[in-house]
Amino acid sequence: MPCLEKVAVIGAGTMGAGIAQVAASSGVQTILIDTGKAQLEKARNTIETSLQRMASKGTLTQAQGMETAKRISFTIDITDAEESDLVVEAVFEREDIKREIWEKLDALCKPDALFASNTSSISITQLAAISKRPELFIGMHFFNPVPVMKLVEVIRGNKTSDATAAKIMQLAQELGKTPVEVKDFPGFVSNRVLMPLLNEAMFAVYEGVASPEAVDHVFKLGMAHPMGPLTLADFIGLDVCLNIMEVLQDGFGDPKYRPCPLLKQMVAAGKLGRKSGEGFYKYQG
Ligand code: NAD
Repeated sequence: MPCLEKVAVIGAGTMGAGIAQVAASSGVQTILIDTGKAQLEKARNTIETSLQRMASKGTLTQAQGMETAKRISFTIDITDAEESDLVVEAVFEREDIKREIWEKLDALCKPDALFASNTSSISITQLAAISKRPELFIGMHFFNPVPVMKLVEVIRGNKTSDATAAKIMQLAQELGKTPVEVKDFPGFVSNRVLMPLLNEAMFAVYEGVASPEAVDHVFKLGMAHPMGPLTLADFIGLDVCLNIMEVLQDGFGDPKYRPCPLLKQMVAAGKLGRKSGEGFYKYQG
């Protein structure tokens, strides 16, 4: 049995659907909550397709896939989270939206329920301060696609208790992940190291040092990266990359984190990468 029995996941987008799937796969009763029925239907389809793909590859049996699907309930009513032992929030990366949700959850959830945010860049200490339980609040930063990627960056806010951190490290392992504990500073570890790399690759293109293809080849063939930095930036979303560079720049006040002017210009032009059909590369469909 997992160390926590009931988990609510708020936000049924790319990350929330994946988090709900891995939680349910490990035997946790999972509620997936979003504001729209269409998003929930899309998440249900994504999860079912993913489970079927895993069954056809032999990673799990058809029966296990069906049991996992049965453990997830879908709802637009946030008050359904009231019995949860843990709430994982994976809504849009906007502090105002996250604030409103944490205020509601704080009022309706059990006093000992743990709260985790999947934010990529907002300070966990700041989010924890919104709730009246900062010692029970933590960052649980999953990676996309959640059912595939092994890492969970576990971020301790300034007041996160040892007991909360220990419970979340244990749960992450039960979900089949490898948790790595880090402190709450801008970008945590993953984005603090990755984003300046992508940004510098953009500077190389901006300054005419090399084409996007050439930069990507250097990393794929010379450093054995599965994806070059510009392909990866397009995959993540150039708006997301810009937002994280700004968080690093604001948070550290160090000019080494200045976003590449080409990145700013592309975002202003609506070239957001794969999701908009064009970034450093063009995409169809
Ligand atoms: P997404 O846009 O795919 O999904 C967000 C979902 O939140 C949407 O379905 C939306 O309807 C829902 N939502 C918005 N407001 C809501 C509310 N008030 N109540 C309930 N649901 C609400 O976003 P995503 O890519 O899944 O990212 C979610 C979070 O995870 C963000 O904080 C992001 O920074 C973080 N994150 C994303 C990635 C990634 O690669 N996409 C990786 C790690 C962390």
